[in-house]
Amino acid sequence: MKAEIVSVGTELLLGTTINTDAAAVALLLSEYGINVYWQTVVGDNPGRVVEAVQRAKGRADIIITTGGLGPTCDDLTKNALAEAFGLELELNKGEEEWLRNLWRERRYTSLDLTPNNLQQVMLPAGSTPLRNDWGTAPGCTFKAGGVLVIMLPGPPRECGPMLEHRVRPILAALSDGVIASHTIHFFGIGESEMEYRLRDYMNSLSNPTLAPYAKHGECLVRVTASAATRALAEEMMAPVIERVKAEFGELAYGMDTANLAEFTTRLLIERGVTVAAAESCTGGELTKAITDIPGASAALKGGVVVYTNEAKTRLLGVPAGLIEEKGAVSHEVAVELARRVREALGSDFGVGITGLAGPDGDGVHEVGTVFVSLADAERVWVREKHITARDREQVRLYACQNAFDMLRRRLTGCTVDEIRVDP
Ligand code: ATP
Ligand code: MG
Repeated sequence: MKAEIVSVGTELLLGTTINTDAAAVALLLSEYGINVYWQTVVGDNPGRVVEAVQRAKGRADIIITTGGLGPTCDDLTKNALAEAFGLELELNKGEEEWLRNLWRERRYTSLDLTPNNLQQVMLPAGSTPLRNDWGTAPGCTFKAGGVLVIMLPGPPRECGPMLEHRVRPILAALSDGVIASHTIHFFGIGESEMEYRLRDYMNSLSNPTLAPYAKHGECLVRVTASAATRALAEEMMAPVIERVKAEFGELAYGMDTANLAEFTTRLLIERGVTVAAAESCTGGELTKAITDIPGASAALKGGVVVYTNEAKTRLLGVPAGLIEEKGAVSHEVAVELARRVREALGSDFGVGITGLAGPDGDGVHEVGTVFVSLADAERVWVREKHITARDREQVRLYACQNAFDMLRRRLTGCTVDEIRVDP
């Protein structure tokens, strides 16, 4: 089966809005093994939307549109689809009642519904509405001329849940079996090396399949199987997952998790251990990432942003002489940061981060030099990293990722590698 995504919106053509809806639709379609050969972006122009749909009709079995379902005059997707398929628009009684109720309950305005609000519940004849519980404009679906059409609202916070709760069941009903997938997460290896090491194995597989990709400074491998039942798909994936994990050993940290920060924070919470952080170049980013996770108060004692040398000395007592002698960006200062913040806050672990995020250098280190340290009651580990990223944001992200990686390794009995053990 072939699908085409038609995204409607002049803002997408202008580049002021990124077409994240199309990416979300494509991801869902790929889960069901439906090929997307074309994605079209077209502005809010009736003639051109009709033209885009007519073209899509000729080359796809499924057309999914995004945007232009709202009440304003540039919201013309339903009219255009109706025209392209030779259908009339009809007021959908059920959706009208729902919309009127919504108005009453939420008291959007003191005014009654205006006629343009009712435009939202005018649907092509014969279509089934897709209730939008995240906004006010319903989507809809119909089948005409052998093509299945699905129309979705533009705002991503509406489009996303509509895909999950309204479109997923439609796609699931289309395919005979199930498509199941797992994602294995890695830290400490690049996408290209991973792809290279997996290539032969990957090419030897057809079901399940493997797909490596990179995201937020991590590497991921998605394993996808299609089978008659979920249980069968799981059975087919298990040996493949084992093999991939075995290939990369301790570089694999988890499966089906959000990211390394979340994984590690949950691990800290589960194990009932606490951490405190002294951050310089990351400016509190590590602490922030931990507090993003509900329940973080069980794991995080606190943190300090010790950006200047003076702050390092005044707040944590790092000897000024040491900073002067070794430099703020140094192995020695990193050790002091982790050790001292751990002691100051009485946590099980202390983390220290000091580095040069750039773009300006300090005349000593290259931009991207970061020392990340982890202290427990007995010892301190330090990683010296030379991050070849182009911007501050990436240097900081990668510095935090290294801190999380050291923590998760320490907690799961892996080697906390690249260490210079401090006496
Ligand atoms: P509304 O009821 O809010 O008018 P709508 O279905 O008519 O919703 P649009 O008017 O096309 O949708 O877009 C509303 C907003 O949603 C846009 O301003 C834009 O920020 C966002 N949006 C629209 N299409 C996309 C897209 N393809 N990807 C990401 N964001 C989008
Ligand atoms: Mg709109």
